[in-house]
Amino acid sequence: MIRTRGLAYAYASGGAALRFPDVDLPQGGTLLLRGRSGTGKSTWLSLIAGLRGAGGGDLFAAGVQIGTQRGAEIDAWRARHIGFLPQKLHLSSALSVADNLALVYFAAGLPRDDAAITQALARVGVAELAQRKPHQLSGGQAQRVALARAVLLSPTLLLADEPTASLDDEAAADALALLQGTAVACGASLVIATHDQRVVRALPDAQVLDLNEIGPQRMLDKREQL
Ligand code: ADP
Ligand code: MG
Repeated sequence: MIRTRGLAYAYASGGAALRFPDVDLPQGGTLLLRGRSGTGKSTWLSLIAGLRGAGGGDLFAAGVQIGTQRGAEIDAWRARHIGFLPQKLHLSSALSVADNLALVYFAAGLPRDDAAITQALARVGVAELAQRKPHQLSGGQAQRVALARAVLLSPTLLLADEPTASLDDEAAADALALLQGTAVACGASLVIATHDQRVVRALPDAQVLDLNEIGPQRMLDKREQL
């Protein structure tokens, strides 16, 4: 579940100031976050995940009002409720695939569960890669590993940032089907940030938040109040 009202964010150091359209996404729903490069898709995802504090407005996600908890609380909430498939996958190169997934338990303050790690890797079709290092994976395999990591704790929200950006048509269709199937299996709401028209065509029933429509009147001057 996501509900935003008047959500805004201003980067410090002379960066962009962004004000986002309101969103109501029911639990289990799919949202396409569309927009050209630089319109604020990654920023919006980071606000939803509580990785940045909003500059203004109200934000409810996965049962909490973001911004009302302390750092340790929001970290625990994120580890438990947010599955994030970032554009740069951030797999630790020194660790095996299985150990990369085990970091999720460390972040959540939970004991390592190797059976669940194996199950998560199997769910996305890469169980046999558990002992490999990230540099021994293809791009598509690495993305599957990152997806397994994202859904290891059955998150409430699954956020994917440009998941098809570097994929050919067939791999992109596979990745989208896998994302959708995984979200359904977890009962998670799914948000896909993309400027890829193939994604828009592949998900005709998804709710759409189009940041292209923000237009210049919403790209605030830094001096204005958010
Ligand atoms: P998108 O994901 O849609 O490409 P982003 O959310 O990455 O857009 O960026 C939105 C705007 O914020 C852009 O104008 C970008 O240049 C700016 N921006 C992003 N990250 C930073 C940052 N760390 N500092 C300053 N400005 C930033
Ligand atoms: Mg981005």
